[in-house]
Amino acid sequence: MFHTQSIVCGIIGNPIGHSLSPLLHSILSEGMGVDMVYVPLYVRENLKLAIEGAYALGLEGMNITIPYKQEVIPYLVEVEKNAQRIGAVNTLKRTQDGYIGYNTDIWGLKKALEKSGISLKNRHIIILGAGGAAKSVYMLAILEEAASITIINRSKKNIKRLIQDIPFSKNMQLQGYTLEELDILGLPYDNYIAFQSTSIGMYPNNADCIINEREFYKKCEVGIDLIYRPAQTKFMKYFKEEGKLSINGLDMLLYQGVLSWEIWNMGYQVKESVIEEARKQLKKALKSDD
Ligand code: NAP
Repeated sequence: MFHTQSIVCGIIGNPIGHSLSPLLHSILSEGMGVDMVYVPLYVRENLKLAIEGAYALGLEGMNITIPYKQEVIPYLVEVEKNAQRIGAVNTLKRTQDGYIGYNTDIWGLKKALEKSGISLKNRHIIILGAGGAAKSVYMLAILEEAASITIINRSKKNIKRLIQDIPFSKNMQLQGYTLEELDILGLPYDNYIAFQSTSIGMYPNNADCIINEREFYKKCEVGIDLIYRPAQTKFMKYFKEEGKLSINGLDMLLYQGVLSWEIWNMGYQVKESVIEEARKQLKKALKSDD
């Protein structure tokens, strides 16, 4: 129920119809007994005007999704340090002078890994992809002091951009290969943590996978697919066939949302029981894609 005193938040993107965030935030607000409404806002063009309009209309906060996570930055009064380093913002919080930008994707990923008992410290990391989502993985691997990072991507240009945008520690080994250059048997380790952060294999293209060579999966210990739709991607199936652990991007989605919600509703910490309910409802909403 919408009241005049309700906190109003929303999500800006293009497209936006597929987003699970309105469902997630309605479960969080209801579970926490907070009078907040969350609306999908389809912005076809003129992002600046959309941000100014949202501010004028009194929106307390917003999520920003594809394709605006970088483009939104010039329209903010401040950007939190790690969001600035990643160069992407997915959460806006209202202040007296305008919106501050945060990136909760990286913290959502961190929480999701913790929940599955996966630590990146001193580990060898493979990142498939070099787009926006890969940036969060790359930054987290640096912050968590991984031993090495190997980026594998279709285009060299985006590997270079990723490395240039986010400085890495000199103690860390860093390699980048295009898919064409990749020599799987030449990869030096056999216990990689592999992140799938391309859009390959996303619903409805469930049968697709960025790497189909079995040797790749033999070189890895665990796989994390940032895709959550379908719940089990082809990438994850390869891990399963090797008898290895893999997780999808649902918990990352869930926790980035929880953290955004907590930024907008300062002083509240979302209860575990509410997070569980949200996970259950999101899984249910995604079931039809398998
Ligand atoms: P993006 O910035 O557009 O990057 C897409 C990546 O996929 C790039 O590395 C791109 O390679 C690669 N790619 C696209 N089409 C390809 C093809 N046909 N062959 C080979 N590589 C291809 O997208 P993004 O924002 O990083 O999102 C990537 C995925 O992460 C999406 O599936 C998204 O749903 C997921 N994601 C999940 C969460 C979560 O909360 N779980 C959060 C963010 C994103 P090039 O660099 O060569 O173009």
